[in-house]
Amino acid sequence: MYQAFLIKYGEIGIKGKNRYLFEDALMRQIRIALRPVEGEFNVTKEQGRVYVEAVGEYDYDATVEALKNIFGIVEFCPVLIEEDSDFEKICKSAVDFWGKVYGDTNASFKVRTRRGDKHYPMTSMEISAGVGEALLDEYPGLKVDVHEPELMLEIEVRERVFIYSQRIQGLKGMPVGTAGKAMLLLSGGIDSPVAGYMVAKRGVKIEATYFHAPPYTSERAKQKVVDLARIVAKYAGPIQLNIVNFTDIQMYIYKQCKHEELTIIMRRYMMRIAEHFAKESGCLGLITGESIGQVASQTMHSLYCTNAVCDLPVFRPLIAFDKQDIVDLSEKIGTYETSILPYEDCCTIFVAKHPVTKPNKNVIERSETHLAEQIDEMLKTAIETTEKIMVEA
Ligand code: ATP
Ligand code: MG
Repeated sequence: MYQAFLIKYGEIGIKGKNRYLFEDALMRQIRIALRPVEGEFNVTKEQGRVYVEAVGEYDYDATVEALKNIFGIVEFCPVLIEEDSDFEKICKSAVDFWGKVYGDTNASFKVRTRRGDKHYPMTSMEISAGVGEALLDEYPGLKVDVHEPELMLEIEVRERVFIYSQRIQGLKGMPVGTAGKAMLLLSGGIDSPVAGYMVAKRGVKIEATYFHAPPYTSERAKQKVVDLARIVAKYAGPIQLNIVNFTDIQMYIYKQCKHEELTIIMRRYMMRIAEHFAKESGCLGLITGESIGQVASQTMHSLYCTNAVCDLPVFRPLIAFDKQDIVDLSEKIGTYETSILPYEDCCTIFVAKHPVTKPNKNVIERSETHLAEQIDEMLKTAIETTEKIMVEA
């Protein structure tokens, strides 16, 4: 029954002269998201609105699913198109439409009309009133309530007439590609995929870096991270994933430094390497899944110490989230089931029983001097041997 979708966007409507950039980015994201959906679609914009119109047969459910996963869409409405803008035709279509969607239901309702075509022989008010009467005649359970209607019928009269009633919630946020790029430190845990999702939701394109430590971490642990990147890519678009072999660096730190400082030093090297790749590809920030106090390496002191090695801004969208709230979000975006698969993480293997919770930056810097002999060479090797793959949804 529906030939089109009216796409409503909030924030991106208020960007002044740059508005077209946001609209174009949104249309681009819609086209990409609809590529795997059965059917052919025209994505167009007209007077501050974006429309998706199907050319012939298409898979309605898959289209709705795809539109639900696009950042920048506040809500969207499945639309019936009446080719003929004759008033009698509008009434008939509206009555048919209502019957199919709601049947003869008991509810209060209101008809709202907009005219794109101001030459139309009736005013918007007249059209609304006329269509309202036609509905009342056909469906005796209805009553008009113009202030707080339970149901709305919306009519847009242009060259053709658009009739719609339902609103489906979108993800909100901003279309990907409107806000530069950032490098996500992506592990196999629950937090970092959620962090990546949240920043991508603001329109930021995401790249990712994962540190693995074969043979201490398995091929399956690596596959899990690729799978997580693929889920995030469903929203954020294709993700370039750098897979860094971190074993030698980790072993070297383990050998040269105090065990309780291992995690914090290791995290500093992760940040350094991630920042290297970030700068190389023009990212303007790093993203982590850190949250204050969640573990020893995420106390305020530890965050201060890890932060000190980077000069790019580090975005930590989960910084003030409770774990349960992060879990809820990961379930909502679909990463949770994968994140809780039990494969070992490179951080969990060498962890000390009592890691420092209040590392002192000067002390840590002094400890790192014990790595002076080989660390530069190891960093170089780690960077040169990094595997780069493009992960698509
Ligand atoms: P997560 O659930 O995201 O793994 P976590 O609670 O396990 O987080 P940590 O292990 O302290 O926390 O890691 C903090 C952050 O550092 C992670 O959110 C992630 O951004 C990054 N990180 C940790 N381990 C790795 C790794 N092996 N590869 C890439 N990034 C990592
Ligand atoms: Mg982790």
